[in-house]
Amino acid sequence: MTDPLSREYALALDAAHPLRRFRDEFLFPRHGEGEQTYFVGNSLGLQPRGARARVEEVLDKWANEAVEGHFTGNAQWMDYHELAREPLARVVGAQPAEVVAMNSLTANLHFMLVSFYRPTRERPAILMEAGAFPSDRYALESQVRFHGFDPATDLIELEPDADGLFSMEAIERAIAEHGPRLALVLWPGVQYRTGQAFDLAEITRLGHAQGAMVGFDLAHAAGNLPLRLHDCGADFAVWCHYKYMNSGPGAVAGCFVHERHARADRPRFAGWWGHDATTRFRMGPEFVPTPGADGWQLSNPPILGLAPLLASLELFDQAGMPALRAKSEALTSYLETLIRARLADTLEIVTPRETERRGAQLSLRVAGGRQCGRALFEALAAAGVLGDWREPDVIRISPAPLYNRFIDVHHFVEETEAWRSAN
Ligand SMILES: *Cc1c(COP(=O)(O)O)cnc(C)c1O
Repeated sequence: MTDPLSREYALALDAAHPLRRFRDEFLFPRHGEGEQTYFVGNSLGLQPRGARARVEEVLDKWANEAVEGHFTGNAQWMDYHELAREPLARVVGAQPAEVVAMNSLTANLHFMLVSFYRPTRERPAILMEAGAFPSDRYALESQVRFHGFDPATDLIELEPDADGLFSMEAIERAIAEHGPRLALVLWPGVQYRTGQAFDLAEITRLGHAQGAMVGFDLAHAAGNLPLRLHDCGADFAVWCHYKYMNSGPGAVAGCFVHERHARADRPRFAGWWGHDATTRFRMGPEFVPTPGADGWQLSNPPILGLAPLLASLELFDQAGMPALRAKSEALTSYLETLIRARLADTLEIVTPRETERRGAQLSLRVAGGRQCGRALFEALAAAGVLGDWREPDVIRISPAPLYNRFIDVHHFVEETEAWRSAN
């Protein structure tokens, strides 16, 4: 039996892994003669090799067919975004009509808030997590103000427990305490700083029991955790496609609207692409929404921006979320095991221990404070091992199961040990 802490053990795990071929579907930044060891799929996923062909297909169609490209071939632009629908629904566990690829993440959050945050004098408040990704806080705060309410009282930010995480008990207590005043609970699927994953169905149940709407920001959850958005019952969700979804910088984002709202007459900011597709081109003055998430679209979509998403979704379909999650759990547990065995004096793991309370990412606090943390982060980058840095003192390492290997994790640990010995 090989020593589980050894290099040979990691290589053997990689050689035997059923998903190992997917690594060859991605392009890696260079480091010297080799490739970077890339752990930043939580920030910008790597480029799938298929993305270029998809983009070139659009460029060629534009060059050769110009306006006719809207109406010709399998990938005609008129319903190009339809090509993303079913594979995307499989990734997030939704019915096809509940998802749409459109806009960007923060824009979609605002458009969802227009429809699902309808504050009244009695019920004006939003519950969110303290320390949220700033864009989410800016969006929510500006919406509270936009409706004439006061963020000081009506944007409720739940503080984490002493360990920096949110226990389900604390979330439950907050929802119960503020219940009658809550118009909306907006929660992350995975908290970006700590990597904590949440029970979306339970949060939805608690919010709904108090009469609040419930929405999720899945920026760090989509393509990372196997989601069951329809079954969890959330009213809406938004996410981006450039993190674990590997669809390129600023990629077209994703949006989920639960089936129960598909035909409801809700306030919304409308545009022609959300109009019933069968009569859109009659160009009538009255807006008739397409049922489902499509009804929230505004503009005809950026076809060049959608092209890499299609390449990425093909890979998710081939691998399947259950197999990806199984590998992800194994990779992240392996990272945890090695850190506890070999780096316990150097790295503190901020992310929860329980597999069901985390995704791919481990957030690591470096012993000795910010300066030591920065020094390690820079030493790793110089050695071609890329994580990312979150102030004040956290390095995030996110092994992505589509392209990271067990030997990458082992390499991170060896480079960190080398830095420790030299310091
Ligand atoms: C990445 C991320 C964003 C980024 O917003 P964009 O609109 O895509 O620029 C927002 N919120 C969260 C929680 C994120 O993780």
